[in-house]
Amino acid sequence: MSTGPAPAQTPASPSTPASPGARHRVVIVGTGFGGLFATQALKRADVDITLIGATTAHLFQPLLYQVATGILSEGEIAPAVREVLRRQRNVTTLLGKVGEIDLAARTVTSTSLGRRLVTPYDSLVVAAGAGQSYFGNDQFARFAPGMKDIDNALELRGLILGCFEQAELAALRGDKQEVARLLCFVVVGAGPTGVEMAGQIAELSMRTLKRDFRHIDPSSATVVLVDGASQVLPAFGERLGDIAQKRLVKMGVEVRLGGMVVGVDATGIEIREGSGDAAYTRRIESVCKVWAAGVQASPLGATLSEQTGAGLDRAGRIEVLPDLTLPGHPEVYVVGDMISLDHLPGVAQVAIQGARFSAKQIRRRLAGQPTDAAFSYHDKGSMATISRFSAVASVGRFRFGGFIAWVLWLGVHLVYIIGFKSRLTTLLHWAVSFLGRGRSERTITEQQVFARRAIEQLGTEHQPQLPDTRRS
Ligand SMILES: Cc1cc2nc3c(=O)[nH]c(=O)nc-3n(C[C@H](O)[C@H](O)[C@H](O)COP(=O)(O)OP(=O)(O)OC[C@H]3O[C@@H](n4cnc5c(N)ncnc54)[C@H](O)[C@@H]3O)c2cc1C
Repeated sequence: MSTGPAPAQTPASPSTPASPGARHRVVIVGTGFGGLFATQALKRADVDITLIGATTAHLFQPLLYQVATGILSEGEIAPAVREVLRRQRNVTTLLGKVGEIDLAARTVTSTSLGRRLVTPYDSLVVAAGAGQSYFGNDQFARFAPGMKDIDNALELRGLILGCFEQAELAALRGDKQEVARLLCFVVVGAGPTGVEMAGQIAELSMRTLKRDFRHIDPSSATVVLVDGASQVLPAFGERLGDIAQKRLVKMGVEVRLGGMVVGVDATGIEIREGSGDAAYTRRIESVCKVWAAGVQASPLGATLSEQTGAGLDRAGRIEVLPDLTLPGHPEVYVVGDMISLDHLPGVAQVAIQGARFSAKQIRRRLAGQPTDAAFSYHDKGSMATISRFSAVASVGRFRFGGFIAWVLWLGVHLVYIIGFKSRLTTLLHWAVSFLGRGRSERTITEQQVFARRAIEQLGTEHQPQLPDTRRS
């Protein structure tokens, strides 16, 4: 029996274009908003698409916080890409993490469980998104999980609900300090994700878990929202930020603005507040910390930058040309959270519209038509929920908060959840949570809580492998 990684599946001559008569090959990296919408926009094009994703699912990130707080299941916000694209005959979906892109050879190299695959392309769309940034303090990640993927959300769900369980045990032991530490939840980052997380943890403790314990009072839990900025939801403007902050405070959330996190450990978080001589460091005793601040673009941006000379901004986003291509490479498009262009925000609509634009350019080039000179983004507005029945929305010239904003948020999110099945079950789970007190997804497992730490302990050299399934 042969063991070890299989040799790279290298194409015979990857740098040559598809042979005469063969179809144009499009490789798309990433199965998020950019990758999926680019693929779908090429449905009727005369091309062969290879969609390569590090996961098997299309993740609807805006609802991750609802998985982390037990409202929705991971399946509802992350349907299998293969299922979503089952009727699209011109696409092959492959699981693999892309590590190399060779622009000269026109190949993409991906790895799955230690096995490499080299895929040639004629056109390339890179939509690998962004990860969490701890602003140079990566050691914080150990004790303050981010909110970027399903693993994060399940770990946080285990951590949040696990703290209530541990607090019940600590109360039985009569350890009041431990109870207080376990029932203090700190969310770092007062952008939409942080506000949504803080609001949902508050609702979880005050409504859902209120009657479920005998030795602790879940509604006595403290939820602290911390940010270095001077207002919550800075991107929504002062008025909506103010509405959101007042609502959070009414729900019992402690909002601490203008403070920088300078330390995170297993049992607490340290925040530097004030300025100059008056600055001081305050420690909050808390077992559960959530990191909802900062993004760092996919490292594939750096690979592309080295090969093209395109600049990178502080968050690792690559400076694309106005038509979303790279200097000297009109066949390569970069879309979504990876790009730096005209201060476009890292939101789903930028990825979706960029994906559709790049697909259109590929179709036009194949038809021998001139391509558009520049991508133009149409801002459809932004929204953030604070609690059930309360949200803020900024749409065109209009800024509003409260119930109407929440209904709008509900409708828009339902439209963008992929698949009828997911929409239906999401609606049911929302009814359970928002009209009643329940949450359908309260199961937690040891693996959810400890898997990341166990993998970290194995070290960076560790290559996960399944038993070799090939015959010798
Ligand atoms: C918690 C949270 C809440 C948000 N809320 C909102 C909101 O309310 N409204 C809004 O408009 N936006 C929101 N956003 C932002 C929005 O989700 C992103 O802007 C959008 O997902 C960007 O799309 P993308 O395709 O660029 O990246 P992503 O959707 O992140 O997709 C990237 C894909 O690439 C894959 N990938 C990464 N690296 C590799 C690799 N090396 N090889 C292969 N595949 C790879 C990933 O697995 C993923 O499938 C939120 C984001 C988060 C994290």
